[in-house]
Amino acid sequence: MRLTALFLFLSTTLCTLAQEKVLRIGILRDRTFRNVLVMSQRGVCTVFADGERKGEIQVNDGLRVDLSGKSLVAKSLNLSVTAKERIELVPRMETSGLRLRLPESKLAERTYPGGITITVEGNNLRLTNAVPIEAYTAGVVQAEAGKEHRQEYYKMQAVSCRTYALCNVRKHAPEGFELCDGVHCQVYHGACRQDSITMAVEATKGMVMVDADIKLIHALFHSNCGGETMNAEDLWSKREPYLRSTVDEYCRQEPHATWQRTFTRKEWVGYLEKRFNVKSADRQALEPLLNYEPTCRDIFMGNTTHRVPLKHVREDLKLKSTFFSVTTTGEQVVLNGRGFGHGVGLCQEGAMHMARAGKNYTDILRHYYTDVHLVDVNSLDFFRDEDPSTGSAGPKR
Ligand SMILES: [Zn+2]
Ligand SMILES: [Zn+2]
Repeated sequence: MRLTALFLFLSTTLCTLAQEKVLRIGILRDRTFRNVLVMSQRGVCTVFADGERKGEIQVNDGLRVDLSGKSLVAKSLNLSVTAKERIELVPRMETSGLRLRLPESKLAERTYPGGITITVEGNNLRLTNAVPIEAYTAGVVQAEAGKEHRQEYYKMQAVSCRTYALCNVRKHAPEGFELCDGVHCQVYHGACRQDSITMAVEATKGMVMVDADIKLIHALFHSNCGGETMNAEDLWSKREPYLRSTVDEYCRQEPHATWQRTFTRKEWVGYLEKRFNVKSADRQALEPLLNYEPTCRDIFMGNTTHRVPLKHVREDLKLKSTFFSVTTTGEQVVLNGRGFGHGVGLCQEGAMHMARAGKNYTDILRHYYTDVHLVDVNSLDFFRDEDPSTGSAGPKR
């Protein structure tokens, strides 16, 4: 029976191309505006008002949409449309997109793959981009990874960003879209214009990371782990079998491998006393906090009766990481730190180093995420019946 099912699954996968998922991204939500100009990137674009088809705009034409009272008024060279709730623009060609300008803002013109819906919220317009997931992934990799990386690094980023997006599609459900375009979700400024990234996304098309239970993973990452990543539970108290501490030799010579901060003895002791009630007269309690050398990633500073959680020290003093030593000489206290960021999951500078050293993207992902599987997102429903977005709750990366 199982064999028959597998055969059917393989034949349908080979014979038909699964429909690509379309994501609804809330774009430019950090701005307020009452008008917008939208142009077709290639070919004609169909205009809908409150769900009803009203006509088309040509490639050289633009549709300007204004908020007038509580209604939307849209005009192009040959079209004049009003809507109560929403105006929708859908390019006729699947591979096309829309160029967008905010006439009263200095924002440079942007091109978005897929369609755009314009709605009203209070006294402002709201935009949602309905974008096929592969085009969205390429846009995010361009905005998040930057230029001049190795191809394997871009492939690794593509799998991570795609996994993150699908794992978090319920993040903005009450607002009527799936993900926003800022750091809260993943930075996205529209279509990708870098060929090397488009190729990396194409080469990993549909590929996502799942754990042993075939659940999409929280693909957490940080800038530099300082030579050792952390267990998820050491930071957020929730254990994840794929977010395990890993020794990392690849990031130790990278730009954010080390940092230093200096305090006066008075400042340091004053902080420990005020925050953790470590009495300055209690030498036994204080000494391990004046001279402290971690042998590996610790959760608490020093071996003392007072519990001094390193994550609180990092937050309070805005340190780059929780991975540091303390050396006191006379009136000076020096913190010598390693790494930058929370230290859980993938270490970006280590991953860049691995890509430069000729490792492929699957090696990189498996180095930082323990016992994960790379699968085609379209096969997830075959392995289990539940919604692939299950597990969207969890720590933000
Ligand atoms: Zn968001
Ligand atoms: Zn590292």
